[in-house]
Amino acid sequence: MTIAIYPGSFDPITLGHLDVIQRASRMFDTVIMAVVRNTSKDPLLTVEERVTLIKDCVTPLNNVSVESFEGLTVDLAKKRGAKIIIRGLRAVSDFEYEFMMSQMNKNLNPDIETLFIPAGLEYQFLNSSVVKEVARLGGDISKTVPPQIQQFLAKKFLQKKSAKQS
Ligand code: ADP
Repeated sequence: MTIAIYPGSFDPITLGHLDVIQRASRMFDTVIMAVVRNTSKDPLLTVEERVTLIKDCVTPLNNVSVESFEGLTVDLAKKRGAKIIIRGLRAVSDFEYEFMMSQMNKNLNPDIETLFIPAGLEYQFLNSSVVKEVARLGGDISKTVPPQIQQFLAKKFLQKKSAKQS
C-alpha cells in the first residue's frame, strides 16, 4: 500500500494542481491532499472553504482524500504512513524553493522522499495569486480553474465589494 501526500496552500486549487493530483492518483494507492492551515501567505479563502472546494473537484478520483493540517508536512506524512511528499514543479519559478524544502524535509525525516511532478505545459505559468488577481478585476479565469472555483471566486469578490461599499 503506497500512500503519498500532496501538501499546499491551494488558495484556490487550479487546473495546474488538479493535473498534478490526477497524475499522482495513478501512481499511488492513496493520495492525501493536505491543505496548509498555518500558511504565511495570508490566504483569501478560509481553510474550510479550500478543503470543501478541493473535495468537490477531486470527487471523481476515488483514491484521493482531502484534509487540513497545521505544523510540519513530514509529521503529517509519518502520522498517515505516507513515504512520499508530492510537489508540482513549474519551470524556473519553483526550482530553488522546492529544492530547498525537499532538502529540509529530508533532514527532518530521511525516510520520507519528495517526488516532483513537472507541471503540464499549459500550466507552467499558472499560479493561484494570478488567478485571484484576474478574478478580482472581473477577468475570465475559465481556462485556469474548474467552473465551481470560478463561481466561488466571483461570489467572494462580489461580497467583498458590497461589504466595502456599505
Ligand atoms: P505552497 O504554498 O505550498 O507553494 P501552492 O498551492 O502554491 O502551495 O502549491 C502547491 C504545490 O503545487 C507546489 O508544489 C507548487 O509548486 C505546485 N503548483 C502550483 N501551481 C502549479 C501548477 N500550475 N502546475 C503544477 N504544479 C503547481
